[in-house]
Amino acid sequence: MEQKVPVSECLAAAKETRAMNVGTNALEALPELLGRHFSPGPVFIVADENTFGAAGKAVTDALDGLDGAGIPRAGSFMFGRERIHAEYRHVETLKEQFRTAGENFIPLVIGSGTLNDLVKRAAFECKLPYLCVATAASVDGFTANGASIVYEEFKQTMPCDAPRVLVADSAILAAAPRYLSSSGFGDLAGKLIGGSDWIIAATAFGFDGKGLMAPGSEAIDPAGWAMVQNGLMDTLEASLPAVRGDSAAVTFLFEALAVTGFAIQYYQDSRPSSGCEHMFSHIWEMENLSVNGIPVTHGHKVAMGTLAAAAFTECFFSGSEPPAPASSYARPSLREREEEVRKAFAGQDKAAEAALKAAGSKYLPEAPARLLAGALRDCWKEVKEKCLAHLPSYEKFRSLFAEAQCPVRPEEIGLTRRRVIAAAAKAQMIRRRYTVLDYAWDLGVFDQVLKRMEDSSQYLW
Ligand SMILES: [Zn+2]
Repeated sequence: MEQKVPVSECLAAAKETRAMNVGTNALEALPELLGRHFSPGPVFIVADENTFGAAGKAVTDALDGLDGAGIPRAGSFMFGRERIHAEYRHVETLKEQFRTAGENFIPLVIGSGTLNDLVKRAAFECKLPYLCVATAASVDGFTANGASIVYEEFKQTMPCDAPRVLVADSAILAAAPRYLSSSGFGDLAGKLIGGSDWIIAATAFGFDGKGLMAPGSEAIDPAGWAMVQNGLMDTLEASLPAVRGDSAAVTFLFEALAVTGFAIQYYQDSRPSSGCEHMFSHIWEMENLSVNGIPVTHGHKVAMGTLAAAAFTECFFSGSEPPAPASSYARPSLREREEEVRKAFAGQDKAAEAALKAAGSKYLPEAPARLLAGALRDCWKEVKEKCLAHLPSYEKFRSLFAEAQCPVRPEEIGLTRRRVIAAAAKAQMIRRRYTVLDYAWDLGVFDQVLKRMEDSSQYLW
């Protein structure tokens, strides 16, 4: 396996984040980091009761300084103890709070998941760079530009700058509830699917919404690839003790998650860090998935999406020849395709609207579609070889997830096997990004592959 790229090199490649300070007593450096990377100004703290409980005192102590002179505050806002969804209305709440704080203050968020996404977008709308004090290794997107937010019922990546500075104390990360590190593990493991989907897009044809792109137009960027994929299996294995609260492992996991965001900043697109496993998770995010009233974490949804994507990829590549459409298969017309999308998102008007746009932009007229299918068949064996060389087996994913306390059965996150399999069709509709799901769809074998998955005693039980 290719050698892991040092974290410092990945940080240097990031276009927006200027510093990351992770380690023992890392928060003590806050005044110095604020002084070096921001214009002088008071700090506005955003936290929730959980994250403030974890790191609030360390942050305020560091800001006050030993002599109490310290860094002034422009205000603070605290969400409650209950886990909130990343909904746009919370961004609006924060912007209102920020409005009371005058100008040129520095938003400082304590938290790396939903809270960070909300502050990231609110700060961006107020044209302010911000600082993130992470409290858990729970999620991948915290260092990326862009925030995952549900806006008008549709989960989307809203544009915004990455945190300018990132700080995390190893002891605080290690003391976080175990399910958070487990979620971070699931999110990181999903990058393997992101890799095989990138191989597919790079080797097979892609589609840019206007016409066919030439093969290779989604060429793999060697640096972006290396940051996320090099040594990824080793990183995952070494991160496993994080779910038992091992401080070194949790720090290692945290840095690996941070790097996936730096790769996005570098590539200016989430392609290096995300494939169809995240599209599955987005479907369930729009359904506000929860178990006993507690929302399922992003990383655990990604873990289930990763299992579904791994199963789909295995089924798609299971023969020795490219799968051929059934004799009864008829490619839907654009109108029929739109009908399929509307039916899949019945009762979710906004999501249906957005999916119609995405699925419509991928739809090709008859002649180019036939050309594309031919080209996709021609490269199938080459793509299969590359993908299977890159991707661990479904069984390997399953055993890693079991060890990392990630869900391995749909019921563990409030889903059923049927719902997980059904989500594949919706996942293929919501985004232009070319993945294994599109590959199967463009060959006219999508339903066949799903049926193969459904009939197998191996997957998603
Ligand atoms: Zn993620």
